[in-house]
Amino acid sequence: MKTIGILGGMSAASTQIYYRELCRLTRENLGGLHSPELLIRSVDFDEIEKLQASAEWDRAAKILKEKAVALERGGADLLIMATNTMHKVADELRGALSIPFIHIADATAAAILEAGFQKPGLMATAFTMEQAFYIERLAARGLSPAIPGVDDRAETHRIIYDELCRDIVRDDSRLTFELIAQRLIDQGCDCLILGCTEVGMLLNQDNVGVEVFDTTLIHCKAALEAALQ
Ligand code: GLU
Repeated sequence: MKTIGILGGMSAASTQIYYRELCRLTRENLGGLHSPELLIRSVDFDEIEKLQASAEWDRAAKILKEKAVALERGGADLLIMATNTMHKVADELRGALSIPFIHIADATAAAILEAGFQKPGLMATAFTMEQAFYIERLAARGLSPAIPGVDDRAETHRIIYDELCRDIVRDDSRLTFELIAQRLIDQGCDCLILGCTEVGMLLNQDNVGVEVFDTTLIHCKAALEAALQ
C-alpha cells in the first residue's frame, strides 16, 4: 500500500473526517485489521484563513507548497489537500511535487460524469463558488455547474467559517442548508456538490432531494484507489 500524504487542517474539523473515512474505506477494501498508510500535515487554519480574507493567495501558496514538499520528503507517495478552497493554489503545489497530486475537483467531476449527471449545484465557500478556478475546472470536464443566489452564497460561506470549521453543528443551519440545496434543485440542478469539505457535516443523501456528491468522501475514495494500485 502506498502512503497517502494529507495536507490538512483546513479546517481541522474536516481533516478528522478524512482520517475516519480513509480508515473506514481501507477496512472495507482490505478487511481485518488493515488501516491506511498516512502522513497528515495539519496546518494552523487561522493563518491560512487570514491570507484568504486578504486575498494573499501567493503567500498562502508558498506556505502550503513548503508543507507539501515536506510531506513528499517525509515519505508520501501521493498527495491530497483536504480543502476545496485552497485548490485555488493547486497548480503551485503540483509544480513543486514529483509525486501524484489528486485534485479534489477532478475526482468529483469524474464521479458525477460516471453517474450520468450534468448540472450540479455547488455549495461551498464564496471563494470556491464565485471564483473561476473551481467552476471552470468542472466546466472544462463537460459539467454545467450552478451556484446559489447572492444571499444564499453569503449565508453558506458564513455557516462554513463561523460554525462548521469550528466543529459547531446547528439544527437551524442544517435547515438553512437544506433550503439552499432545494432552491438549487428548483433552479434545475440534477445533483448537488458538497463543494466544501465541511458541508457533509450538515447535508447528505438523507436530506437532499437529488444525488449528493460529497467532495470529502470522493477525495478519500480516489486517494485510496491510487494508494492500492
Ligand atoms: N474546507 C473548506 C473547503 O473545502 C473551507 C475551508 C478552507 O477555506 O479551506 O473549501
